[in-house]
Amino acid sequence: MIEITGVSKAYGRQHVLKDVYWRVQAGEFWGLIGPNGSGKTTLLNLISGVEQPDAGSIMLQGAPLSSYTRKSLSRKMAVLQQDGLPRVAYPVREVVEMGRFPYQDWRGREKHEDNVRLVEGIMEKLELTELADRPLSVLSGGQRQRAALGKVMAQQPELVLLDEPTTYLDLRYQIQFMELIADWQKQDGLTVVSVLHDLNLAALFCDRLLVISEGGIVAQGPPDEILTEKMIEEVFGVKSHLVVHPDTKTPQLLLQRAIEK
Ligand code: ADP
Repeated sequence: MIEITGVSKAYGRQHVLKDVYWRVQAGEFWGLIGPNGSGKTTLLNLISGVEQPDAGSIMLQGAPLSSYTRKSLSRKMAVLQQDGLPRVAYPVREVVEMGRFPYQDWRGREKHEDNVRLVEGIMEKLELTELADRPLSVLSGGQRQRAALGKVMAQQPELVLLDEPTTYLDLRYQIQFMELIADWQKQDGLTVVSVLHDLNLAALFCDRLLVISEGGIVAQGPPDEILTEKMIEEVFGVKSHLVVHPDTKTPQLLLQRAIEK
């Protein structure tokens, strides 16, 4: 799905990404982890085409990213930020419908009934039906994030890029959000690349983790191979205990207070 070969990116004199090689297969769920400022968002911005690399190449489904038009790219991939939508006056239903823009023809038309059915189905799945006519400006952060996910789902992409999507969500909505993405991945073979700060969520939901530190990839692979106390100390500068989740058998992190050193 994505092939990144020898990619580097600098802002002025600051080398933010250095010679990155990374392959993402269709249907995988990747978590991008690493300290603040390590280059995770920059990597997402390069994949979404918002930024251009200084060196190296990025291929999407076998073709250079630069060969796609904006419209064809937005049928293939969708991006969701940590605070997905501003507090504007648009009602939820209209926001979800905006996800269909990349499919409208030059007259701005699309087959009406299919569209309505799709949007209704998504709103039901995301428990947005009751909020359909409410403007975004009166919704809670969690509700707005669900509306943002609805818009992204309506876009029917093959790849979603998520940048810390659960940051402003409470525990229940964090799990709900990740479950919705994981269900979508399993049902439709969606490819997911998500920056995540919460390593426990990352271990629970991701098939693979990419660890970035100071603009370079330091490890990549399944969570149970990648998450080690040594890696966490080296990359995040934090001492931890890793335990095995009793249900999923994935690693989970217990933080240590500095005082216990
Ligand atoms: P992360 O997502 O891992 O926190 P970022 O990719 O956002 O890291 O940022 C990596 C570094 O690049 C940071 O030092 C940041 O200040 C810098 N940076 C990111 N975007 C820009 C930009 N548009 N202009 C200048 N510097 C930037």
